[in-house]
Amino acid sequence: MSIGSQIREIKQALPSGVKLLAVSKFHPAEAIMEAYEAGQRAFGESRPQELKAKYEVLPKDIEWQMIGHLQTNKVKYIAPFVSLIESLDSERLAEEIERQAAKCDRVIDCLVEIHVTQEESKSGWEYSSLMEFVRQGGFDAMPHIRLRGVMGMATLTDDEAVVRGDFKRLAECFNELKSYFGDDFDTLSMGMSDDYPIALEYGSTEVRIGSTIFGHREY
Ligand SMILES: *Cc1c(COP(=O)(O)O)cnc(C)c1O
Repeated sequence: MSIGSQIREIKQALPSGVKLLAVSKFHPAEAIMEAYEAGQRAFGESRPQELKAKYEVLPKDIEWQMIGHLQTNKVKYIAPFVSLIESLDSERLAEEIERQAAKCDRVIDCLVEIHVTQEESKSGWEYSSLMEFVRQGGFDAMPHIRLRGVMGMATLTDDEAVVRGDFKRLAECFNELKSYFGDDFDTLSMGMSDDYPIALEYGSTEVRIGSTIFGHREY
């Protein structure tokens, strides 16, 4: 199926109010243009330089979202234009985003990435450390960061019970943080090509879909 048909099909099946983030990492600008022509505007990338290079050549009404692990020394590449950083996963990174956003005179929307799986390889805050930082008022001193919600991934496994447990946990973290941060905290980003129908059952408001739309990635 073509990129455009995939986009239309997925969008039709999503409950209203759920946003589709098209994950275009490792795919060329031409593939993104096909999705763009089908009406897609929000794209997710995992590497800052690739994101910046695509931003420079593609239409300016695209919303670029950073979803991959972000090194502090690379925040500067995307700070001037990024629409959402989903991978805010440490205090050090928050400090750097605050600093770069202030330099650009912007407030940058961010999601906190929370680690809920047993896999060491996945990034994200441990929820207890995040809560400690939040309770100490860590984000209160960061006026150039606006926290919009939570991003997370489920364990990579065929065991559906484990995947459900991970999404349920992410939803609990989201709800607890929402009671702390209030109405602006409205995004629960979870679910990828293989598990998004399950994520939707647990209240996902944004699904991040790459391979189903664009095909397999050549790393
Ligand atoms: C690559 C990636 C996705 C998309 O994965 P697919 O399985 O291709 O849909 C979603 N979220 C994150 C954080 C990713 O790195």
